[in-house]
Amino acid sequence: MAKINDNFIKLPESYLFSDISKKVNTYKTEHPEAKVIRMGIGDVTLPLTGEVIQSLHAATDEMAQAATFKGYGPEQGYRFLTETIVKEAYLPLGIQLDPEEIFISDGAKSDTGNFGDILSKENRIAVTDPVYPVYIDSNVMGYRAGELGSNGKWSNIVYLPCTPDNNFVPALPQEKIDVVYLCFPNNPTGTTLTRDQLKVWVDYAIKNDVLILFDAAYEAFITEKEVPHSIYEIENAKKVAVEFRSFSKTAGFTGTRCGYTVVPKELLLSCEEGDKKVSLNKLWNRRQCTKFNGTPYIIQKAAEATFSPKGKEEVKALIDYYMSNAKIIRESLENIGMKVFGGVNSPYIWMKTPEGFSSWEMFDKLLKEVNIVTTPGVGFGPSGEGFIRFSALGNREDTLEAMERIKHWNIKK
Ligand code: PLP
Repeated sequence: MAKINDNFIKLPESYLFSDISKKVNTYKTEHPEAKVIRMGIGDVTLPLTGEVIQSLHAATDEMAQAATFKGYGPEQGYRFLTETIVKEAYLPLGIQLDPEEIFISDGAKSDTGNFGDILSKENRIAVTDPVYPVYIDSNVMGYRAGELGSNGKWSNIVYLPCTPDNNFVPALPQEKIDVVYLCFPNNPTGTTLTRDQLKVWVDYAIKNDVLILFDAAYEAFITEKEVPHSIYEIENAKKVAVEFRSFSKTAGFTGTRCGYTVVPKELLLSCEEGDKKVSLNKLWNRRQCTKFNGTPYIIQKAAEATFSPKGKEEVKALIDYYMSNAKIIRESLENIGMKVFGGVNSPYIWMKTPEGFSSWEMFDKLLKEVNIVTTPGVGFGPSGEGFIRFSALGNREDTLEAMERIKHWNIKK
């Protein structure tokens, strides 16, 4: 008899964004005159840049000619892009990589979600809390999460709270773990680790045979010097860490789809049986060659264009635009007495709700009283309760209008 993977029915529906949508739609039906401003979902709003569009057109034209047409490409990505990433994204940070250590994909969601394919079901997984839900859900699917408790936590997953009490720096786990997901700059809190703080994790991973899955999807938003853009800025990190990156937020590729994963050749993991150590790079290559047929040529050309001198300037302008929004949001919330985190090296602002308000109560209040849609922090995990996430990825006009409303808002009423 054919059977399903029961873990899929253990997984609760992801209600967060549909619950938000329902609440917003009900409110709009009851108040058709209200101009609701969305500052919840982390999608970008600015269009693709000129260099990217030009290269998309040029690559499309190549596909129209027999002489330049491309069929299946290398599953790992075209060499022109992996070499460009090595040279433009890592060398300036002092990091030497081999193009064969870079795997181009359709984005960091797929890669962070799929990476568990090559890891044992026996691994004990740790995540920071609050957390990007893909890390947990993909481990539920992969038989590693156990059971969901009434406290909102999975029994076999180790949760590492990140709250103002620890300055959003996760403490090293007290119990034995095998794999940890770290995401810095963080979604949803917008906070970061300094080089010294990340080194603590790399040293711990080396000492305790732990694999770090480092999600750097927001590295392009970093403005402070002491914040590392890549985990490989930390000595010996190549022995213990995989890094995920994305063009989504960096260059407006959320709908265009391109990302990449770095799997260093020197990263070796033990087999389930015996003492043999195996290269994770080889396994990921094997996995990708079996289950993935490569990112489209035209998309990889578009991604390459973000690294040309003009492309880099354009990307910087996009990031500067969003980070100016972040500053506006942060300062406006501070001006009305709110405690806020993030928004300096990331497009997310994490606001503590005033005393007595839960995440959802604050969400409702913002929607009803100033017509602003945010994301309730508790939707990202138990330690997100009592917080609200604002996204700076909207357009300037809406951001300014939303903050003007906040300025005149009596939050305590
Ligand atoms: N990782 C984090 C932390 C994210 O917040 C997101 C998107 O919101 C992703 C990965 C997914 O990125 P991509 O669009 O490349 O799949």
